[in-house]
Amino acid sequence: MSYTISESCPSCNNCKIDCPTNAIQRENGEYWIDQELCNNCQGYYNEPQCIVQCPISSPTPTQAKKGRYKNVTRRSTSPELFVNGKNTPFASSMVIWEACTVLTRASIIPWEKDAQGNLYYERSVKQGKGKIVFRLNNSLDSASSESIEYLSDPSKLEEIDIRAACLHLLFAAYATNLEKPWEQELIISDQQIEQYLGLDKRKDISKAAKLTLIKLLLQQSCQLLATIDWPQQGKVKGFTVPENALWHLLEIQHHFQEDDSGCQHLIGLTFRLQPGMWAKYFLNKQGYSQRVAFYQYGSLPQFVLSTVMSIWQQHPGAVRMMLWLLFKSKMGRKQSITVSTLMRVAYGQERSEQADIQREQRKRLIRTFESDLEVLNHYGIKAVFDPVSYPETIQPLWVKLAALPDDAEEALDFWINDGSQEHRLTDSGPRGKWNWLMKARILNFELPQEWKEQLIKFEQKKQRKNNRKTPTKKSPQLSAEQILDARKNKGLSQRALAKEIGKSQSWIRDLENGRFSAKPGDREILQTVLEL
Ligand code: SF4
Ligand code: SF4
Repeated sequence: MSYTISESCPSCNNCKIDCPTNAIQRENGEYWIDQELCNNCQGYYNEPQCIVQCPISSPTPTQAKKGRYKNVTRRSTSPELFVNGKNTPFASSMVIWEACTVLTRASIIPWEKDAQGNLYYERSVKQGKGKIVFRLNNSLDSASSESIEYLSDPSKLEEIDIRAACLHLLFAAYATNLEKPWEQELIISDQQIEQYLGLDKRKDISKAAKLTLIKLLLQQSCQLLATIDWPQQGKVKGFTVPENALWHLLEIQHHFQEDDSGCQHLIGLTFRLQPGMWAKYFLNKQGYSQRVAFYQYGSLPQFVLSTVMSIWQQHPGAVRMMLWLLFKSKMGRKQSITVSTLMRVAYGQERSEQADIQREQRKRLIRTFESDLEVLNHYGIKAVFDPVSYPETIQPLWVKLAALPDDAEEALDFWINDGSQEHRLTDSGPRGKWNWLMKARILNFELPQEWKEQLIKFEQKKQRKNNRKTPTKKSPQLSAEQILDARKNKGLSQRALAKEIGKSQSWIRDLENGRFSAKPGDREILQTVLEL
């Protein structure tokens, strides 16, 4: 018995080079294994080289493995994540956020080409005072390649699997368990990854396919390279981090089990990685206490990972929005977001611009956006529509149907009543819906409990820190009356003020009614705009 090469083989030629018996053949660009020549590498290597050297472990035994998988002795792995069963800390600095953007939106972000024709993506920091430049290693197998060959072919960006972002987030979580991540290693097993991503519950995928997928996603997330030029921020002086992999893939250990015919079945993988130099500046506990570096982390809910693994194919836009919100929500749960921003996040600038000028594209994009919002809603990430800029007339149909009673008779009354209205629920959107949507805002997203709990704790901690840092006399409280009087004195309506400071009208109204007080950052903006 021998091995066969699966259809997913990206024809990298590694196996052909390393096969000691020349059993690997190439015909019309496709690879196959000559079963007469393959001898399981016996007499040459302990492990079948075609599997070990293949970036995705594509060759699999011709006959599937029978019986249970044996537990092989493995080196001990890094401490478990998600010990409370819900969430885990993860490094959430801008570098990690932007790297997540690259992995989830590789084919829709604006890449540029350098003088050598290699692709790079540049993200400015603090209004252009600094920047992060990302490149991609062209080789998946970065563990064995000595020199870097950069990715230059834009069509290859399409091959980056959006699910690679899940591995990137897992590494960011593992890194928070290390004292000095940039000097220490992470040891992760395929079993841990399976469990965190919810793959262990997938009975429809074979073990071999799971291992292939994990190896591919992990290697893709290790292809990212970043150069960081960071400006002074607070007491931390500006710094530069030369180009460095975000995650160094040091080694992949393959675990095999031999069957009666001597065929080796891949039954497990262990990965050895090291966080890149970014961690010295953004995940440095000691440096943070000495005010020479940052220690930035957030909370990663496990359900986010398993949801991405379930919806990535049908709803990539929803995945991008969800992962963007994971970082964005750290800035405060109540931040309003414009629909145009969300669409850029989910579908890219180019698609939004095309929709601006083409009616059919516009209709399609609105449909996709509304369907993606529905998916997020289904997973507990519920958009709160701004009643002023995002009124019911332009809200998705599924929002309006939420009011449909379960009881059949009541539902009938509901539809009869709807039929007597001037505008029916099922009427197509009003004219100019796109333009309307482009100015619409989502006040915030209600988040599932396990996500929200951690954010509340995080916000409270931030608030306490702000309170300690900000002496009251420097930023005095603003009373509801003060704000109301100052607004009227300036001749501004609630709506005009809201627009000026990037808030919703209801936020101003609640502030003036004394329902809550403005937070320090908002207070400063109000003081400036209202000249208080
Ligand atoms: S198992 Fe060894 S001999 Fe057989 S095809 Fe793979 S590399 Fe060649
Ligand atoms: S190493 Fe893997 S991906 Fe590369 S040609 Fe061989 S089977 Fe295909």
